[in-house]
Amino acid sequence: MEYEPILGLEVHVELKTKSKMFCSCSNDSNEHHPNTLICPICLGHPGTLPTINKKAVELVIKVGLAVGSQIPEFSKFDRKNYFYPDLPKGYQISQYDEPLCKGGQLFLYLSDDDKLNQRAIEIERIHLEEDTGKLIHPEDKKSTLIDFNRAGIPLMELVTKPVIHTGKEARLFAQGLQVLLKTLGVSEADMEKGQMRCEVNISLRPKNQKELGTKVEVKNLNSFKAVEKAIDFEIKRQTEILEKGEKVIQETRGWDPIKEITYSQRTKEEAQDYRYFPEPDLPPLNVYKLFDFKKLKAELPELPWQTKQNLIQTYNILSQGANILVQDDKALLLFKETVSKLDPEYKKIGTPLINNYLTTDILGIKEKEGLDWEDIKLSSDNFAQLINNLASEKISSRVAKDILLDIIHSNQDVEEIIKTKGLEKIKDESILISTIEEIIKNNPKAIEDYKKGKTNTLQFLVGQTMAKLKGAADPQELGKLIREKITG
Ligand SMILES: [Zn+2]
Repeated sequence: MEYEPILGLEVHVELKTKSKMFCSCSNDSNEHHPNTLICPICLGHPGTLPTINKKAVELVIKVGLAVGSQIPEFSKFDRKNYFYPDLPKGYQISQYDEPLCKGGQLFLYLSDDDKLNQRAIEIERIHLEEDTGKLIHPEDKKSTLIDFNRAGIPLMELVTKPVIHTGKEARLFAQGLQVLLKTLGVSEADMEKGQMRCEVNISLRPKNQKELGTKVEVKNLNSFKAVEKAIDFEIKRQTEILEKGEKVIQETRGWDPIKEITYSQRTKEEAQDYRYFPEPDLPPLNVYKLFDFKKLKAELPELPWQTKQNLIQTYNILSQGANILVQDDKALLLFKETVSKLDPEYKKIGTPLINNYLTTDILGIKEKEGLDWEDIKLSSDNFAQLINNLASEKISSRVAKDILLDIIHSNQDVEEIIKTKGLEKIKDESILISTIEEIIKNNPKAIEDYKKGKTNTLQFLVGQTMAKLKGAADPQELGKLIREKITG
C-alpha cells in the first residue's frame, strides 16, 4: 500500500527585544554568566506582577502582516500549567485560544525548483509566550544546574497546518521563515544558538484516506539538515511499521544528529496534561488600540520573496543564484555594489559572472576556510575590476579565478597583479605557437594517441600549454591551434 506523509511544523523563535517579555531584565543571548539576567518577576517570586513587552507584541504582528495572517482585535494571555525544573513559576505565560495572529501562508520561495516555489504552506497561528530556563547537565552526572537567564525571553511560536509532505518542503519552509525573520529584524533566528527551534508532527495515512494516522512528534531539531533528515527517517520508519501490519505508537521522539536516527523520549501515557486558564495578572490586548496599523504596514521592508523576484528581473540572474543572495545580506550588498561599479560596456556579460564567482567561488572559500565576512578583504571596486578584465578578454577565466583566490584575502589591486605577474592574455600568436611546438616536442606519446583517435588527449595538451603560459591564454584558441599543428 502507498502511504502519504502529513506533517505540521511548530517553530519557536526568540525575539530580538531589549528586555524580557514580562520584566525589565535584559534579553541578551550572548550573556554567558548564568543567572545574572534575572529578577523576582522572571523568577516567579510570590507577589510579583508581569507587564507586557509592547515591542514583542509588535514584532509578532509584523510577522503576521508579512505572511498575510488575520490579526484579531482581541487577544489574551493564558497560563500553561506544568511542572518542570526549568520553569520557575510552575506555569508558562502563553496564548491558548486567542493568539495574536490567525492563518496566513508562506511560499517555499527559496526552492531552486520553480514548481515548488509556487507552493504555499498554510499557517495555523502565530502566538507569543515566554521562554523557559536552561538545564545544564555537568559531566559528573551527579547534579543538574539551572540557568534562568533565558527564562522570560519573548518567544514567538508559529504553527503550520498539517499540509507539508516531505522533509525537503519542511526544510524550505524553515529556511524561508528564517530569512523573513532576519529581514523583519524580528530575530537573529540562529538555530545553533537555539534562537530558532523546530518541532515536527508527523503521521502517515494510506493514500486516498481522509482521516489522519497516529501522530508522532519529533523535538530538538536545531539545524535545517536535522529537520529534513529527521522527517525522512520518520517517514521510512513509520512506513516500515505500517507495512508489517503493526501500529505506530503516539509518542514524542528526539533526534540524534550523530547516528541520524530518531529515538523515543516519552509515550502518550506519560504526556503532559496542560491545564490552561486565562492569565489573571495581564489585561486582554486590543492591538488595534495599541498600534497604528497603517504605520506598521508602511514600515515593513522589502520582503525576501520580493527581493528574489527583483534580483531575477533587474539583474537577469538565475533563481539558484538569487536564492543564495537572498539568504546572505552581506553577499547581496557585495553583489549590488560590484555590479554598480562595472564598466557600462560589460554590464550585460559581467553581471552573471559576478553572481557566479560570488555564489560559487567566494562563498565556497568562505565556507571551506570557515571565514566570516569580516575576513573577506575583497572590495567591490577590485572585484568589479577583475570582472571588467575578464569580460574584456584581457585575462582568461583561469587567470581570473587564480587572482580571485589571492584577492579574497589580500584585496591586492587587480591591475597590479596582472601587470607584475604578466597574466595578460597572450594575443601574439607567435608566442602561442612556439609554446605549442615545445609541448608537442615534449609529449610524443600524447601526439601519437591523438592521431590514433584518442581525442581527449587534446585536453591534456591544452592543460600543459596553459600551465606553461601561466594560464594567460584562451584554452579554446589553444585547442584549435594545437589541433591544426598536429593534423597539419
Ligand atoms: Zn526579570
